[in-house]
Amino acid sequence: MINIKEYVKPDTVQSAYEIGQMPNSLYVSGGLMVSQIKSERLERLIDLKSLDLDYIREEENYFKIGANTKLSSLISHPAFSNLGKGFIKESIKEIGSVQIRNMATVGGSIAFRLGWSDVITIFMTAGSQVEIYKGNFQRINLEDFISQKVKGAIVTEITVPKIDGKCVFEKFAKSNFDIATLNLGLRVSLDGKFVKEARLVVGSRPMLSQRIREVEEFMIGKEIDKVSNEASELIQKVIQTGTDIRASAEYRKALSGSLLLKALRRVAQ
Ligand SMILES: Cc1cc2nc3c(=O)[nH]c(=O)nc-3n(C[C@H](O)[C@H](O)[C@H](O)COP(=O)(O)OP(=O)(O)OC[C@H]3O[C@@H](n4cnc5c(N)ncnc54)[C@H](O)[C@@H]3O)c2cc1C
Repeated sequence: MINIKEYVKPDTVQSAYEIGQMPNSLYVSGGLMVSQIKSERLERLIDLKSLDLDYIREEENYFKIGANTKLSSLISHPAFSNLGKGFIKESIKEIGSVQIRNMATVGGSIAFRLGWSDVITIFMTAGSQVEIYKGNFQRINLEDFISQKVKGAIVTEITVPKIDGKCVFEKFAKSNFDIATLNLGLRVSLDGKFVKEARLVVGSRPMLSQRIREVEEFMIGKEIDKVSNEASELIQKVIQTGTDIRASAEYRKALSGSLLLKALRRVAQ
């Protein structure tokens, strides 16, 4: 980034967006990923931290998370961290190190659309929506936001519904601080022992996080403690995976079956 000529700190989302439309501009929040970008074309950095977007607000049915909220604040917020019976606290702790979580923001993590992002898998499992600004404010499902490449938009807020049911997150990485070889989030609502609703998200396939709808549908109406083996076999057949430096597509398929088995055992407890 040797050709940066301007570092701008706008005070409204609208002005940040307008400046962002100028060629060779880039938004920056926590800066962890921006600092890795080696582009000679970049001339302007737009610091979004000057916007008033660092908050966690509890409403009756959901939480609103400002885009500048640090990952560490998600763990320390008493009500939000306990969402899904501690799902948020447990899962966010699996991301990077304390130092990384103290810098990385929710907005930067979502906007960058990394295939290996745990943050996206976790928020998708919770059924979150994203508020973006692109000339006007729009609210869309996180799932749609990451699949459509919404260019130039500013992520301003995430809405996370209060979770009905149990949620778990599983991550396989080669070491504690490593990026996921595969990550998996499962949210299940039960009617007695029977699965009423299921949401299953797998990320770092290595492609972007995706819901595995065939397995979700298969589980509905089945007894939670009897569904594990068949669901684990099914996910390995239907999931689309790829090969990269971390693992082969075949290894990831096998891993998806193991992580789903672990997740189902935990929700059935
Ligand atoms: C060493 C290391 C280990 C990591 N380990 C993990 C891990 O295990 N799991 C995991 O999930 N993540 C991990 N991360 C990624 C981290 O969690 C964040 O996703 C990442 O740092 C981006 O967040 P940021 O706030 O730093 O964004 P930045 O670096 O500031 O920005 C990232 C990108 O998003 C754009 N952007 C930033 N904010 C916005 C916004 N509000 N609206 C629109 N665009 C925006 C920027 O222009 C840039 O393109 C790791 C990162 C590092 C450096």
